[in-house]
Amino acid sequence: MSDLWNDGDPIADTAAPDGPIETRWERHRFSAKLVNPANRRKLTVIVVGTGLAGGSAAATLAEAGYRVKSYCYQDSPRRAHSIAAQGGINAAKNYRNDGDSVYRLFYDTVKGGDFRARESNVYRLASVSANIIDQCVAQGVPFAREYGGLLDNRSFGGTQVSRTFYARGQTGQQLLLGAYQAMERQIGLGNIEMNARHEMLELIVVDGKARGIVVRDMVTGEITTEFADAVVLASGGYGNVFFLSTNAKGCNVTASWRAHRKGALFANPCYTQIHPTCIPESGTHQSKLTLMSESLRNDGRVWVPLSVGDKRAPGDIPEDERDYYLERIYPAFGNLVPRDIASRAAKNVCDEGRGVGPGGLGVYLDFADAIGRLGRKAVEAKYGNLFEMYQRITGEDPYEVPMRIYPAVHYTMGGLWVDYNLQSTIPGLFVIGEANFSDHGANRLGASALMQGLADGYFVLPNTINNYLAAGPFPDISENPAVAEARATVEERITKLLSIDGDRTVDSFHRELGHIMWEYCGMERTEEGLSKAIGLIRGLRDEFWQRVKVPGTGEQLNQNLEKAGRVADFFELAELMCIDALHRRESCGGHFRAESQTPDGEALRHDDEFSYVAAWQYADESGKPTLHKEQLEFEYVHPSTRSYK
Ligand SMILES: Cc1cc2nc3c(=O)[nH]c(=O)nc-3n(C[C@H](O)[C@H](O)[C@H](O)COP(=O)(O)OP(=O)(O)OC[C@H]3O[C@@H](n4cnc5c(N)ncnc54)[C@H](O)[C@@H]3O)c2cc1C
Repeated sequence: MSDLWNDGDPIADTAAPDGPIETRWERHRFSAKLVNPANRRKLTVIVVGTGLAGGSAAATLAEAGYRVKSYCYQDSPRRAHSIAAQGGINAAKNYRNDGDSVYRLFYDTVKGGDFRARESNVYRLASVSANIIDQCVAQGVPFAREYGGLLDNRSFGGTQVSRTFYARGQTGQQLLLGAYQAMERQIGLGNIEMNARHEMLELIVVDGKARGIVVRDMVTGEITTEFADAVVLASGGYGNVFFLSTNAKGCNVTASWRAHRKGALFANPCYTQIHPTCIPESGTHQSKLTLMSESLRNDGRVWVPLSVGDKRAPGDIPEDERDYYLERIYPAFGNLVPRDIASRAAKNVCDEGRGVGPGGLGVYLDFADAIGRLGRKAVEAKYGNLFEMYQRITGEDPYEVPMRIYPAVHYTMGGLWVDYNLQSTIPGLFVIGEANFSDHGANRLGASALMQGLADGYFVLPNTINNYLAAGPFPDISENPAVAEARATVEERITKLLSIDGDRTVDSFHRELGHIMWEYCGMERTEEGLSKAIGLIRGLRDEFWQRVKVPGTGEQLNQNLEKAGRVADFFELAELMCIDALHRRESCGGHFRAESQTPDGEALRHDDEFSYVAAWQYADESGKPTLHKEQLEFEYVHPSTRSYK
């Protein structure tokens, strides 16, 4: 018990199978109830989100015969944030014959997540990974190929094998086109009703079950209630709570947060991934940060000057006056250590005063060796579009001078708590992709988000949702008071946001919130800083509800209104993230508590106290959230100090 939260009862994933890990998923699938094809036509599923998770789920459910209603806030399903993914997607195909296997991918992921993920889920993810590649190749996704025609692979952080499939630096875009075309086929057949430019603003729960959503048509402002037998949230991650991140500007937490307020537990909200290779911030005018894919660390070498305050141009610094610090500190993995480790190492050298570029907040990512070894053409073929993007943004030519990079917020491992069936604590509400608290523990390995989103959408959810839908179709709810109540909540909130008519823009609040989060809940967290942040967030939130200015009306396209609703939810989430980070008095993965580190500055876990998923229940009348702990068991990959040395 604390001033900030209540301690609740422990929870368990009661859907999880036991027995030998290799057969758990197969046995679970076999024991799940099925819905016969004729009955599927009588069942409707709402899917919120058309990224890789939602797009693949909608297409697969519709192909199976369910009626699907799909929603996204972009003007086309294929503009979902997944399109931004650059580097690749993992799969345990072992095409390189370099010792890879399902078990190794499972092992790497559990270890990479710093032993804070469920073994059963991770094993399932590793085993379906190979199916994803087959599915996507069949759809025509143009993965890179070797000279002989076989699919090519490259390496990503935290692994010593090459298992990452890619399509230049646009893997997400090509995979999304595959999922989108599969969706389009079903839209054409009338099995998917596509609602682009519609934002879910509330979840409808009737008799304890998720039965629909309240949506706003973002062009006309019309509010409608939509019903279904089950609801799937595939609404992505919430990294934009930090204002500056590599995420698309629209990414937000509203769909998940509305469900959380209606009873869905929110797990591990403080686990944020800070990606080591992003273009450094260039000024306060900036509203977005740009990722330079992790794939670049296959060939790029990270370094800073050996001496503090060395301001010479990189080309003037001789080899023996450079510190290739990742290769020095982590000889086994070198430049391919996992993201959390590479990010902290970059922060440390910059804190020592050895950072490069404006403000000393940058390190070099140098391709001179690779260009010398492979030739410029080969480097161009692998990374050409990333180099071009870098040059356009910074005005510097990375073929000639090393890139400058710095860590930035990139991915959120936390999300709505789900069981093995991907069902939240609200029956009938399923959560997939980045929106769930996922299989990545406290740190996601590169190229594993696309794998998880597509595993969830193409292979896992379509097999688990049947078990729930077999009890349907559920009774008509259109006259149920809970529906009118959910709709009224949305209307009142919009009216309130529009009526404040204050003197500060939504963006100014969001930017300030982002500063607080980055400063106190970013790469390094302390008890003192987090306590301070909670006070600051509360103060700023109160000010928001007094002073925010939302011009325009609700009956028109109004991007300020959209943003205001999202920022209002970010305030509540931000507070929970800080509380979660405060309660977890250990360092693990992306969560680094300064009070808990080894003598050489590495993350120090406390497995005896914190080997659990922290699943938070929305604040009760006391105003405090309640913490439920799901204990994690490790039968196969035993927790050890994570070493990449
Ligand atoms: C720059 C960048 C590069 C990346 N590169 C890689 C990579 O190489 N490999 C890798 O594995 N991962 C990568 N990632 C991570 C990966 O791209 C994401 O985790 C993944 O694409 C998320 O997919 P998703 O389907 O869960 O969500 P998203 O693609 O974010 O889709 C969310 C969907 O939900 C909809 N939505 C959200 N809220 C609402 C609402 N309230 N109402 C209606 N619709 C809503 C949106 O419209 C959208 O359609 C990268 C991430 C970034 C930022």
